[in-house]
Amino acid sequence: MPAITVENPLELPRVVMALTTDRPRRVKSITTAPRGLEGEGFPVRRAFAGIDLADLDPFVHLDQMGEIDYGPGEPKGTPWHPHRGFETVTYMIEGTFLHQDSIGGGGMIQNGATQWMTAGAGILHIERPPDALIDSGGLFHGIQLWVNLPARLKMTNPRYQDIEAESVSLLTNENGDAIIRVIAGTLGDAAGPGSTHTPITIVHVSLSPGGQLALPWNPAYNALTYVLAGQGTVGLDRHAIGEGQMAVHVDGDFLVLSANEAQDSRTQAFEVLILGGEPIREPVAHYGPFVMNTKAELQQAFEDYQAGRLGQIPADHI
Ligand code: MN
Repeated sequence: MPAITVENPLELPRVVMALTTDRPRRVKSITTAPRGLEGEGFPVRRAFAGIDLADLDPFVHLDQMGEIDYGPGEPKGTPWHPHRGFETVTYMIEGTFLHQDSIGGGGMIQNGATQWMTAGAGILHIERPPDALIDSGGLFHGIQLWVNLPARLKMTNPRYQDIEAESVSLLTNENGDAIIRVIAGTLGDAAGPGSTHTPITIVHVSLSPGGQLALPWNPAYNALTYVLAGQGTVGLDRHAIGEGQMAVHVDGDFLVLSANEAQDSRTQAFEVLILGGEPIREPVAHYGPFVMNTKAELQQAFEDYQAGRLGQIPADHI
């Protein structure tokens, strides 16, 4: 998996567990993400399907994009479309997405890079594979996460952050059998590069076969573990979990993961995305590309979009 990695994890700083941590997070549920199609028809897994919004808060939506090995001419993206009221986080593990938006943001997202787009009051954007990748086909694997904004920030100015893979904070565990990438927020003493409107942590872990990992986790945050690839367990009581499954963890101040000895030959590691944040605890009105507090605000968002008030497709659009 070509997300940012290192030859020798033992050279990385170790993740530090506070001496006071003694309450492992309990596993409340494990769900399996159904498959769907997004945009112009690229395959996704809907990671949050079947989970209570209250357990997901402050997150509202998570798609695993791929993993898929496209043939020539097959790669697909999205047309131009609007957003309001939240932030989109696109993390590309494999393959490339081109991005452009109506506030002048844009570029290539690839090989472990993250694009963080605050839609706020309104933005239009497009995400699609570059022409060369459409022609050649190839591997495509990433995630798109929607992070909610509280009422006081829903109409904030849109913002674009380009997070290069090299800027991600890398850690390992005691044995050096984990690569822990802190993309946003803090994990113990480490901080990731993503600048977030509300406190959250996003981590991508690759755990070697047979490896075990304990991670400090802010007790005020929710905690969600999604398996991108491979097989393992979550919790001290070792609930089995595998590719395309999501665990909701409650209570406690640390998380426990283990990777099965046998992994599939393609990934050779247990690949896990771990998310958490401070719940916003406000009503959520979500329809299509808008996430607001009330139905009236959704209606307003549609009217504003139709009147061109969410932005214009740039003249030099891709
Ligand atoms: Mn979008």
